[in-house]
Amino acid sequence: MYSHEDPVFRQKEVLFPDYIPDHLPHREKEIKAVSSLINSALKDPAGIVNIFIYGPPGTGKTASIKFIFRKLEEETAAFPVYINCFRINTRMGVIYAIIFEFFRKVRPTRRIPSRRGVAYDELFDLLVSELRKSRIFPVICFDEVDHLLPRGAEVLYDLSRLKEESIPVQLIMITNDQFIFMNVDPRIRSSLRPVEEIPYRAYTLDEMREIIKLRVEFAFQKDVVDEKAVDYLAEVACEMGGDVRIARETLLRAGELAKKDGKFRVTVEHIKQALSESQFAKAKSMVEQLSSKERKIISLIPENGIFYPEFYELYRKVYPSGVRDRMLRYYLERLARYGLITMERRGIGGSYFIRLNVPRKVLNSF
Ligand code: ADP
Ligand code: MG
Repeated sequence: MYSHEDPVFRQKEVLFPDYIPDHLPHREKEIKAVSSLINSALKDPAGIVNIFIYGPPGTGKTASIKFIFRKLEEETAAFPVYINCFRINTRMGVIYAIIFEFFRKVRPTRRIPSRRGVAYDELFDLLVSELRKSRIFPVICFDEVDHLLPRGAEVLYDLSRLKEESIPVQLIMITNDQFIFMNVDPRIRSSLRPVEEIPYRAYTLDEMREIIKLRVEFAFQKDVVDEKAVDYLAEVACEMGGDVRIARETLLRAGELAKKDGKFRVTVEHIKQALSESQFAKAKSMVEQLSSKERKIISLIPENGIFYPEFYELYRKVYPSGVRDRMLRYYLERLARYGLITMERRGIGGSYFIRLNVPRKVLNSF
């Protein structure tokens, strides 16, 4: 055999974030439901049913869609576009992302139009005329769609109304929050109908154990990971909401730790150490994705928490030309939605108390 073979990992890539497994155990039913909705729309574009997927983090929502999109690209004439609304959260950004993909895939020899100095309506009309000419069937996924709301929600309306002009567009919306559309303009909400809801529930302990075992089998050399380590990790991942992402990151770190200590066996101890490191890393990558305005705000929150009125004063003192009361609260609500802070009302009619959910040293590392 190879003398330079890695003594711990067989195929480390299996544990990387962008790796899409060929098989997603315990999601067969959901994948089938989504695929068959898309396939019937492909056959009968007049009968499009939009898709709304919701469920807690790490339950395979994104992985399923990427898996389905890969198959769509290989096997059908559909034109899948994947949009992560955490990164692209304005209607202009969304339309441009679709146009960009369209030109890249359908008109590869033409120059991709610039978005600079172009109005939204103009860009949208360009997309419509290209879609009308090409007669392809776009399947557009808005992952983490809550970040598009309420500011960018109009684009959902604009796209779903194209069916009235006989331009079929299939929309897929994914979110952690089942009730996200409750506060959205009823006009937009009704334009999205008909819509089929597909819930992703958290994995059970047995399912989690099986999912982890399968990843371990592909990623690690034989007998490197202790059975007890797998059991322990499955338990913790379930306690933390059934999040496979945590399990995957932890396996990768635990493997590195086992390599470093030279014994080449992943034990419960490695899992424990890796878990505490990955919590730190998770918070760090969340903070990294924030805008600089949001990062300034979160960095001002003291370790022991603070009431909102005091926080507003503190913020204005440090940033005299910063945002006003209403916007500051808007940003705080966003941070709370990301899970980076908690806001709770203290006492009846009392003011909000803001607590930090990320270790201070994460914020100091920027
Ligand atoms: P969500 O989008 O629901 O937050 P993801 O789809 O990003 O979660 O999944 C998180 C991680 O867990 C990814 O690495 C994904 O490949 C993995 N994962 C989730 N569900 C499964 C499953 N059933 N089998 C194998 N891996 C899974
Ligand atoms: Mg996701």
